[in-house]
Amino acid sequence: MANPLFDALFAPLEGRASDLIILKDGTRLSGDAFFRLLARTAHALRAEGLRPGDRIAVQVAKSPEALAVYGAAVALGAVFLPLNTAYTPAEVDYFLGDATPRIFLCDSAQAPALTPVAERHGARLLTLDADGTGDLAQRTRDRPEEIGAEPRDAEDLAALLYTSGTTGRSKGAMLSQRNLLSNAEALADLWRFTERDVLIHALPIFHTHGLFVASNVTLLTRGSMIFLPGFDLEAILRWMPAATALMGVPTFYTRLLSDPRLTRALAAGMRLFVSGSAPLLADTHAEFEARTGHRILERYGMTETNMSTSNPYEGERRAGTVGFPLPGVELRILDQGREVAPGEIGVIEVRGPNVFQGYWQMPEKTAEELRPDGFFVTGDLGCRDAEGYVQIVGRQKDLIISGGYNIYPKEVELLLDEQPGVLESAVVGLPLPDLGEAALAVLVPRPGVTLDPQAVLGAIADRLARFKQPRAAVLVEELPRNTMGKVQKTLLRARYAGLFA
Ligand code: ATP
Ligand code: MG
Repeated sequence: MANPLFDALFAPLEGRASDLIILKDGTRLSGDAFFRLLARTAHALRAEGLRPGDRIAVQVAKSPEALAVYGAAVALGAVFLPLNTAYTPAEVDYFLGDATPRIFLCDSAQAPALTPVAERHGARLLTLDADGTGDLAQRTRDRPEEIGAEPRDAEDLAALLYTSGTTGRSKGAMLSQRNLLSNAEALADLWRFTERDVLIHALPIFHTHGLFVASNVTLLTRGSMIFLPGFDLEAILRWMPAATALMGVPTFYTRLLSDPRLTRALAAGMRLFVSGSAPLLADTHAEFEARTGHRILERYGMTETNMSTSNPYEGERRAGTVGFPLPGVELRILDQGREVAPGEIGVIEVRGPNVFQGYWQMPEKTAEELRPDGFFVTGDLGCRDAEGYVQIVGRQKDLIISGGYNIYPKEVELLLDEQPGVLESAVVGLPLPDLGEAALAVLVPRPGVTLDPQAVLGAIADRLARFKQPRAAVLVEELPRNTMGKVQKTLLRARYAGLFA
């Protein structure tokens, strides 16, 4: 019997002489070398008791060995559960308690703090350090370098990926083999990935973007990746002439733009720059095109759905939009139960082979967000323009309701961002007696500019209905962001909670 995900992504690596992974220092790992590492790792994990359906949680640095654990988990039919390396032991405690993994892999520096946590939840703790050493490496020695994958069905779970926790407590999204494979196939096709591609992989591999979008697409199409431990401006600039593609979050692009060495000549061999996980400012899009000649391709997705929409590869990549639903994915936008007309805002729902199997051990939450007809309620607000390009205008949870009227933060943010001296902005709702909520504008000035927040509000006043106008504006040096570049509006709301009270 087959194991569809393993057969498509990992089995073809066996015997492959070409590079799969190129490390920052130029060290190369062929497909075959990676396969042998994966096989040894799988045998070691099986010897530690990992069985089909068991969860294996990992909180480790990005490395070829860590990626091999993902492949080994797929081979063994186990459920891969990567955790953000920034999580503290108290946070890890929640995830291990929720997911009850058989094995928990962590860095040896964290082992003293995490051993009692793993013990409490019955997980076997093993270490894997950034350089590939640790308990696991010792156990992989002298293991066979081939592996017959456990038979799996396309509906079986392959991963349990927790959401980023931007709007509340992280939820475990159950992803089947089909969810992952169908999405990798759709993206590879749409974005024209082939074995000639060399992807600059600078994203973390604990999140859907770096783990599934970047790694699965490369594995599926037998390309190679320059595997950087994290965003590293120097390394990206140095490696760009050897690469063909980059996938990043918007901050990658603003940071690249801040360096004069990013030029048209440097990017001449590149064919694709992809952005996602957070909104890309139209300004960044335009500046990047002016500097490099490349139009960034923005796409939209989430932990629960993998990728749902993408701008076209050929055809217009429209700044400020996330393009069209992927082939096989249906998207609808509803307001109070009915589909909205072009230009009208509603909640985005998606259906397709990409949509997850439900939240781990949260049947009620699952029932709330996964409709009986298979559509998943994303919680993102959006609209479509006349040509069908989808635009994300924010999250339902960030919608501000003032005196019964809706204020879409994005609409106000776009106006604020246009004002001279404003680098970027975030608009959040704060409690206000009588009206329920009112908008606060949080402004980041451009470097070296002295900004008068009142003047900025004055400048946009005639372009916004009165109820939408922020009641106050404050200046900050930077917006609070998580590791995926998402603005943490919950933190802003907490910080300014009493301002209008
Ligand atoms: P939580 O669900 O725990 O609050 P989260 O939704 O931030 O966290 P992820 O699944 O990592 O966790 O992020 C998905 C969200 O990221 C989407 O729902 C959307 O709001 C945002 N997003 C992703 N891509 C884009 C994009 N291109 N433009 C705007 N927003 C995006
Ligand atoms: Mg979410």
